[in-house]
Amino acid sequence: MVHKEKNKNYIPFIFYSICLVLVIVLCIYFLGRDTFAIFSKREVDESKEMKIHMLNVGQGDATFIEFPDGMQILIDVGRDRSVVESLSEVMRFNNRFIDMVILTHPDADHVGGLSDLVAFYDIGMIIDRVDDSQDFDSRDVYEKAIGESGAVHIELHDNAIEMNLGDGSQMYFFPNIINAYDYDDLIDDRNEYSVMGKITYRDTSFLWVGDMSHIGERLLVELYRDDPSMLDTDILQIGHHGSKTSSSELFLRATTPKLGLISAGADNNYGHPYKGVLERLYRLGIPHVCTCTDGAVTLASDGEDWWIE
Ligand SMILES: [Zn+2]
Repeated sequence: MVHKEKNKNYIPFIFYSICLVLVIVLCIYFLGRDTFAIFSKREVDESKEMKIHMLNVGQGDATFIEFPDGMQILIDVGRDRSVVESLSEVMRFNNRFIDMVILTHPDADHVGGLSDLVAFYDIGMIIDRVDDSQDFDSRDVYEKAIGESGAVHIELHDNAIEMNLGDGSQMYFFPNIINAYDYDDLIDDRNEYSVMGKITYRDTSFLWVGDMSHIGERLLVELYRDDPSMLDTDILQIGHHGSKTSSSELFLRATTPKLGLISAGADNNYGHPYKGVLERLYRLGIPHVCTCTDGAVTLASDGEDWWIE
């Protein structure tokens, strides 16, 4: 009798064990590596592709870049919570970590979404060029959000900086062009202090200029007159949402983009993108996409070629 009771107790244990094994096997079968991605922050792309997502954040900028080794960089965060909603469309639901957030300049359409972003995501590093002398709206909100993010805060100064991101990727921050030329007329213009940079993944490249105007563009072209390859790029984020103040012919010829990305709200009040800029792009044979008409746009690069997904 005693012996029989003992065997009976084992039956549910064996049954549940078999069920558990079955569930694990089914998960692995149906979800594959996704099952294990839940336990890891970084998702390695085995296809070795870099992805550039121009997020659709209305009238503003937010560009999310995923590198083959899983590193993720966000350039600007839009004006509001739409950055979180847009990111959730391209990031895995369990992925709540962004390695680096670059804030080009503290205008609302570039940094307004910061509080919402830090509430949802852990951030490794925030890079900006905001010093104590700059005056802008909601500075207290901006600083509070950076403090609450827990990220390492790096304030760029005037010099150019080159960062090796590993796995064939590099990032180059252009110098503070206005201070480099001591251009006093523009000393109070935040757009001209935009953090500009270029990301290369092997033979492909992406360059952004924030809201820099044609004056800064001209200074940049002058600065790299003896080394024009520094400005050469495959993909150019068209400056200042396609505003008439940016994208001079001189700069477009110097950067030689194969594609222009324009981030602007549909039917915005600023008239972005400016018709004259679109005509200039057309005349120079530079195709473009705009969030205002195309919504979010994703580009992929295998290091040799790039394409729109
Ligand atoms: Zn802007």
